[in-house]
Amino acid sequence: MECMRPQFKKVLLLLLLAAVAAALALHANWILGPPMFSAAAAERAPASNYNDKDDALHAFAALAPVDTHVHAFKTDPAFTALMARLQLHVLDICVADTQGIYNDLATEVARAKGFVKSSSGHARLCVTFNPFAFQQKDFAQNTVRQLHQEFADGAIAVKIWKNIGMELKTADGNYVMPDDPAFAPIYRAIAAENKTLVAHVAEPSSCWQPPNPDSPDYDYYKENPEWYMYLHPDHPRKEVILAARDHLLEENPKLRVVGAHLGSMETDVDEIARHFDRYPNFAVDTAARMEYLMMQPREKVRNFLIKYQDRVVYGTDLEFLANETTPEALKDWQDTYARDWKFLATDQMLQLRGREIEGLNLPEPVVRRLFHDNAVRWIPGIADSAK
Ligand SMILES: [Zn+2]
Repeated sequence: MECMRPQFKKVLLLLLLAAVAAALALHANWILGPPMFSAAAAERAPASNYNDKDDALHAFAALAPVDTHVHAFKTDPAFTALMARLQLHVLDICVADTQGIYNDLATEVARAKGFVKSSSGHARLCVTFNPFAFQQKDFAQNTVRQLHQEFADGAIAVKIWKNIGMELKTADGNYVMPDDPAFAPIYRAIAAENKTLVAHVAEPSSCWQPPNPDSPDYDYYKENPEWYMYLHPDHPRKEVILAARDHLLEENPKLRVVGAHLGSMETDVDEIARHFDRYPNFAVDTAARMEYLMMQPREKVRNFLIKYQDRVVYGTDLEFLANETTPEALKDWQDTYARDWKFLATDQMLQLRGREIEGLNLPEPVVRRLFHDNAVRWIPGIADSAK
């Protein structure tokens, strides 16, 4: 046994050295290694572990998410509390809708300003202008002056809506397109003040097609036949309206344009990709079109979002309207955020119109860009506290 002792000591020493080496390696990995132990990743357990809405919303909140497309025209402390809990910033978008649910523009803007003011810095304003005045004397000059004042008061973006291209006409009956020279000074002014144009131009292709109960837009056109172009073949075709939008992008290379609703190119991400390649000043939001991303081939959409990870901003089109009850709206908003986060960030299965859709399980940096970084880059000021 005596002769064994030095050998035993040697083994002990080797074991000790091995332990120290292992500890050092672990330490080095902690500092230099992949972000396995970063604070952000620690909050994100393997995607498949998320099964309920609260967990999804918790992970969503950890991204400091930005929703770049909401219509909130009512004020309630419960909403401010929700945005605070979700660490959420939103862009509250005004729409110059003469015949719809949003009342007259002045009332709507006043309500939107009320929402922004009560949001404790969680909401910023996207204003608009009345395009129907486009033939009035000094239209552009007056509109530019109005926008200048709105920017000074804290607005960070301007919305144009589908009525340009689909409703607005000249005195002699021609439809007015978004690239009409009447709007050119307005676009130049928005670019000069480093603000963003949110452009809802045209509609989903289903707007020009026969009714299809499987379409995500079926109910909308049933309830809003005046916007259902299938019933109005005398109105401009979608291609004509989008060509005018593309001309606007080309004419205004310094103007940041976010194409609302996937830029109305909702059925094929390849078409969006071609536009991104051609117009560096163009991004799209996902508002009310996430289902169209769910319906396209999973790998194709996933590759598109990875390749163009700095060009897509997250938006929902969620509403909080004057006639709406708060609990209903709160539920709707949270359900949407939980669903969208699951679809983009996890590989969970989601139900969509009787089909099972597998989540995209996008890499975490991409998820972060979609939910936060891109909004800050394309709509500067959106995550700053409001004036
Ligand atoms: Zn909208």
